[in-house]
Amino acid sequence: MDLDLAPDPLLAIPGPSQIPPRVMKALMRIVDHRSPHFHKLYRDVVDGLRYVFRTNGDVYPITASGTGAVETMVLNFVRPKDTVLVPVFGSFSRRLVNHLRRAGAEVIEVDYGWNRAPTYDDLRAKVESMGIKQIDVFATVYNDTSPGTVFRDLPKVVRWIKSYGALVLVDNVSALGGDYFEVDSWGIDVAVSSSQKCLAAPPVMSFIAVASSEAYRKADSVNHPSIYFDIKLMRKFGEKFETPFTPAVNYLFAIREALGIIREVGLENWIRWHIERGRAILNALTKAGLEPFISNDYYRSTTVLSFKYPAGVNPDEFRRTIYRFGVSISDGMDEVKGKAFRIGNMGYLTRKDVLTLVSSIIAVSLINGGNNASNDAIKDVFREVLNYWEPEQLSV
Ligand code: PLP
Repeated sequence: MDLDLAPDPLLAIPGPSQIPPRVMKALMRIVDHRSPHFHKLYRDVVDGLRYVFRTNGDVYPITASGTGAVETMVLNFVRPKDTVLVPVFGSFSRRLVNHLRRAGAEVIEVDYGWNRAPTYDDLRAKVESMGIKQIDVFATVYNDTSPGTVFRDLPKVVRWIKSYGALVLVDNVSALGGDYFEVDSWGIDVAVSSSQKCLAAPPVMSFIAVASSEAYRKADSVNHPSIYFDIKLMRKFGEKFETPFTPAVNYLFAIREALGIIREVGLENWIRWHIERGRAILNALTKAGLEPFISNDYYRSTTVLSFKYPAGVNPDEFRRTIYRFGVSISDGMDEVKGKAFRIGNMGYLTRKDVLTLVSSIIAVSLINGGNNASNDAIKDVFREVLNYWEPEQLSV
C-alpha cells in the first residue's frame, strides 16, 4: 500500500486531533507579519484565545509546540532558587519538574503515583505535614495526558496556595476547550496551552496567558538566557499586535478559524460536546468489557481516556491491528507504557468517527479473544454511540 495515497487514519490520539475542513483551508493564506492585515489577524487570535482561556489578561501566541509555551512559562516566571511546589501525577508533571530544575528552581515534588490526581485535602495535609513555610511558585499540570487524569480540585488549591503568596503556573495543554478551565475566576497567574488538541487546529502553535500584574512584576525581575521565549519581548511586540520574530502566519489563520468555530458553537457547548462524547466512549467500551485505567471518576480526564489492554493481547499488536482499521490510538507513556492505551477525545471528533473508533477497538478485542461481551451489551454499546449529544451549530 502506498501510504501517501491511502486515506489518512482517524486521529484518536491525544493530539494532534482531527481538523475541520474550514480550518485546513484557512492554512492556505499568508500575509506580511508587519502589516495591517497581520495586526487584524493577531487581534482576532488573541481575542479568541482570551475567550477560551477565560481571561481578560494578555495572551501571546508562540510559534512552537506546547513544550515551547511550558518553557516560556518556566523561564520567565521562576527565579533560580525559587521554592516551587509541584504535584506529580503523570509524565507531563514529571516533565514540568525537569523544566523547573533546569531553570535552577528548588522543586518540592508531591507524588501521587500514576492512577490518581491530587486533591485539595490531601495536598494541603501533605504540605502542612512537611512543615513547608515558603512557596514562591505553585506549578502544575491540569490534565496529565499520560495516564489520563485531571486535577479537579485546582481552583480550591489555588485559593489556598495564594495564602503563601505563591505565583500559580498551569500547563493546560491537553484540556483547554475540552474541559472546564477558567484563568481569571480561578486566580491563575499564568497558563499555557497549544493548538493541536481540543481547539482542533494544526500543531506547532502554543499560547501563554499572563493574567496578573504580579506575574508581570515577577517576569521583570527574572533574568534568563532565552531570546526566543522572552515574555518581555512578546509583550512589547504584542502591544502593536505583532510577534517579536517571524510567526507561522498561515497557522495563525488556521487558529483564528478554529477559534471562530468554537465561538459560533459557544465555549460551553464545545466543552459539553467533549464531556458527553467522552462519557459515551467510556460507557461504550466499558459495556464492551474493557476496563478504564483510572477507576475513580473524580480523577479521570475528559479529554484523554485510558483503558487497560484486554487480557492476553500484545499491546503493540493490538494498536497495530486497530491502525489497519484506519484508527490511530496511543500507548501509555512511561509507567503506563504497555499497560493502558489512550484515546484522545479532543476537538472535532464526530459521531461517525466515534463509531469507527469504538467499533475498531471492539473488533480487535474480539479477534484477539479478549472480549466476552453479550449481544445485548453490544447493542448498548452502539446505543451509547448513537445517543450522545452533539452541537447543532457546527459549521465546519
Ligand atoms: N503538556 C502536556 C500536558 C501535554 O499533554 C503535552 C503534549 O502532549 C505537552 C505539554 C507538550 O506539548 P507538545 O508535544 O505540543 O510540545
